[in-house]
Amino acid sequence: AKKNKGNNICFYSEKIAQQHYRNKDIENHLIEAIEQGELFTAFQPIVSVQPGKPVHFEALARWKSKSLGNIRPDEFIPIAESTPLINSITQVMTRNTKLLLELSKHRRQPIGSISINVSARQLTCKNFGQTFLQWLDEQNIDSQHICLELTETQAIENYQQCLDQFMFLRSQGIKISLDDFGSGFASTNHLLDLPFDIIKLDKQLIRCIDKNTRGQALVAGTIEMAHRLNMTVIAEGMENFEERQTVIDLGCDYLQGFLIAKPLSLGAAASFSQCGPSQ
Ligand code: C2E
Ligand code: CA
Ligand code: CA
Ligand code: CA
Repeated sequence: AKKNKGNNICFYSEKIAQQHYRNKDIENHLIEAIEQGELFTAFQPIVSVQPGKPVHFEALARWKSKSLGNIRPDEFIPIAESTPLINSITQVMTRNTKLLLELSKHRRQPIGSISINVSARQLTCKNFGQTFLQWLDEQNIDSQHICLELTETQAIENYQQCLDQFMFLRSQGIKISLDDFGSGFASTNHLLDLPFDIIKLDKQLIRCIDKNTRGQALVAGTIEMAHRLNMTVIAEGMENFEERQTVIDLGCDYLQGFLIAKPLSLGAAASFSQCGPSQ
């Protein structure tokens, strides 16, 4: 048994070392990837529970690397988040958002807003708000079209700074949503200080919600609180009809998930309508 234990330790430290090199490799390649346009954006529809309302979209980063293959955002985003590269990714997302707005100009029904993910850490940088607004300006994007989805992957270090940026962005007409609510990191106490426009119920919470009565109580309570605070609620990660019916019955406002549509290419997003991917 003792011998086994030793082997395990050895195995784990080797794993940690491998992980370290993989992360370094990704970080180094990411710099070039951004310059050479290897990053692109998938757009996932967010639809109202009421028919006939404009479709919104969430912009999701994708990376097809020539040397490393397809890398999932769950892998490269946390690495980018610990460096200034995360801001370059946000800038790429902003440019691609412009492309979707342009392509969607002549739709029968105009699209709603497009959500861009930012980590809370980006907001602790004191000129993030100004910089982001400048990117919108360069692309000639009306701030009314933009929503920022705030994810907290680490505890916020400089809370006051974050609060200032938040209030500034909101004063410029940008909507802000609290992402991943009901998962580990998105905590309720932010709701006391930060006037979010939207709460996104995390996909872990929505999974099998039709069979989870405790989850239903949590979702019902969250929706009640959100509406009292004039916030809109989006349920993400909807995969089947039972889950959809349950969150609709509980009073949710918007739906997102594979049941509605997977994240789409630029062209497919521009022609998406609620009845199907093409009109
Ligand atoms: P997220 O913000 O929670 O985005 C939703 C994730 O759920 C996306 O994964 C989406 O593809 C996936 N998803 C949507 N519907 C379903 C469903 O019905 N079932 C399941 N199982 N999954 C569903 P994705 O695209 O792999 O992105 C992962 C995470 O990476 C995002 O989670 C977000 O936190 C981060 N991310 C992606 N793009 C960016 C970005 O440009 N900036 C930052 N800071 N983070 C980003
Ligand atoms: Ca998100
Ligand atoms: Ca989310
Ligand atoms: Ca997430």
